[in-house]
Amino acid sequence: MSDPYESALNFLDSIRDNLPEDYRPYLQRLQQPQNLVQGDLEVKMDDGSMQKFRAYRFQHNNALGPYKGGIRFHKQVSESEVKALGLWMALKTSIAGIPYGGGKGGVVIDPAQLSQKELENVSRAYMRLVAQHIGPDRDIPAPDVNTDSQVMAWMLDEYEKILKHHAPAVITGKPIELGGSAGRTKATGYGGVLALHFLKKACADAYPDNTNGWYHKKRADITIAVQGFGNVGYYFAQTAASEGYRVVAVSDSKGGIYAENGLDPQAVLQSKEKNGSVTAYTVGSAIITNEELLKLNVDIIVPSALEGAIHADNADHIQAPVIIEMANGPITSEADDILSKKDMLTVPDIFANAGGVIVSYLEWVQNRTGLYWKEHEVDQKLEELMQKAFDVMWGKHLELKDSQGSATLRMAAYVLAVERIIKAEMLRRPL
Ligand code: NAD
Repeated sequence: MSDPYESALNFLDSIRDNLPEDYRPYLQRLQQPQNLVQGDLEVKMDDGSMQKFRAYRFQHNNALGPYKGGIRFHKQVSESEVKALGLWMALKTSIAGIPYGGGKGGVVIDPAQLSQKELENVSRAYMRLVAQHIGPDRDIPAPDVNTDSQVMAWMLDEYEKILKHHAPAVITGKPIELGGSAGRTKATGYGGVLALHFLKKACADAYPDNTNGWYHKKRADITIAVQGFGNVGYYFAQTAASEGYRVVAVSDSKGGIYAENGLDPQAVLQSKEKNGSVTAYTVGSAIITNEELLKLNVDIIVPSALEGAIHADNADHIQAPVIIEMANGPITSEADDILSKKDMLTVPDIFANAGGVIVSYLEWVQNRTGLYWKEHEVDQKLEELMQKAFDVMWGKHLELKDSQGSATLRMAAYVLAVERIIKAEMLRRPL
């Protein structure tokens, strides 16, 4: 698998010619991150021993506002991974039009091997490492892979202990009782389905004569395969199914299931919670591997697990005309080249999964004003922000397509996101 940060930098470089000439010299600033905090967490284990775990907080760019990005607990966390994720966060907050920069954090750890108490100790130790580098106006962490609202609660509590006062806006994705927002848990997956609605309509409007296009089908005939059935994958699958699309396959790290007539994601989740994997669900479905899921003859593939799932060796086998990137960086740059030559449409992660950070922003606004919105109000604000971001991205895509003959949605999203950051850089620190 290619190095994630190198891949991210390569793509950033590839947009150079699509930027206004006077913006180009600033691209270098975006390729030079601002700060990396790292250290070893010393954690007390249940048997009384102390163990060390490597931890990172990466702060990529804050021209548009405080750094913003999740914290991942995973054994594959590395410096390169947090840097790639932090860079993508800066682009994501920019394309979403919210007043943040980008950052990311992580701990090299396998949480499945830890007790609840050990997980709490890791979360608190992480906060002690980064507390002096973050804050509601400086850097605002959030959940990511294997970190949930309980982890955010422990981290918030540790931060407030250090500061000796309440500061709920320092971290988002909190439990409702500690200042979390209604609608945050489902927001990333829910936002991904909004992206699907917008794309379907935009394609149908742009290509009215292509009657074979997936976008002219009824929702019930649009087939979807979701790789990864955690927070993001589950809520994507559940929202898509409840909005009338046909989710025919889902998977987790242990494997996947396929049902031609569609799955009930809620029932699959119940079975997974009881048995540990989606593969235990057998009602009208067959077991498939994660690789088979990606190669299914469906309309839409939704990678929602980890980066690099679609790579140079399997990209050629993908049949779906559309990929919605709900994970961060699920397509390597080599695979991206292969897919764009095949004229496949990829909805880029920096837009498709922005629902989570948008509702994190709404949570932060609520924490700072002390006024709290109902779930339908949060959903409506999320939809407005996603629609606005989609419209400018789609407009740029058509504009680049007209001028160059072809342009990916990723190119359009990157150009817009980078232009906004560079504009802020020019106003702050002109070269
Ligand atoms: P999660 O830990 O809740 O779920 C991850 C899922 O992926 C689990 O079901 C796991 O079994 C599965 N998985 C792991 N390895 C796999 C493999 N090799 N093949 C298939 N499935 C595999 O994590 P999450 O919060 O849902 O995040 C998933 C992705 O979405 C990550 O890339 C994350 O950065 C991104 N993301 C998350 C959020 C958020 O709000 N949680 C927001 C934006 C982006």
